[in-house]
Amino acid sequence: MQHPRLPSTIAFDVAPRFLVSKRLSFWRPAERAEVSIETLHKQLPPYMPQKGEQYMSARQRAHFKQLLELLRDELSADIERTVQTMQDEATVFADPNDRASQESDIAIELRNRDRERKLIKKIDETIAKIDADDYGYCKSCGAEIGLKRLEARPTATMCIDCKTLEEIRERQVAK
Ligand SMILES: [Zn+2]
Repeated sequence: MQHPRLPSTIAFDVAPRFLVSKRLSFWRPAERAEVSIETLHKQLPPYMPQKGEQYMSARQRAHFKQLLELLRDELSADIERTVQTMQDEATVFADPNDRASQESDIAIELRNRDRERKLIKKIDETIAKIDADDYGYCKSCGAEIGLKRLEARPTATMCIDCKTLEEIRERQVAK
């Protein structure tokens, strides 16, 4: 991405430091509102199965599809918002130090965007699995992943036991 450089002007050179940091903090990743599943559950409360209801009934599948679509919409909106903010902010700094700090912030943002795009791809794959009625079961052992875990991680493809085991193995390989 190109970031246009503004010519140094008196006005920019004397811009008070606090003003600059205030503007930067607006899109610092740590301070940006993250898309979270908790927020989504305010719009779409967790599914309450009826007594004796079959696991991954049509209504449950519809619920998780809706949850995933909401999550995808939020992520897409978030990507658009940050790209827009970066474009708006890109013309502000004349001081090289500010530019350096801005550029490292932009690098972090771009990494976040990349992560969000990958998550969107995973969401699309998960929705395709719901449509194919192949959702909610562990890809490793075939057990039910469970409603509670899927509410927290609707893109989960493994039950908590297999996932934990995988993470332990990954940590051992990393050592
Ligand atoms: Zn499993």
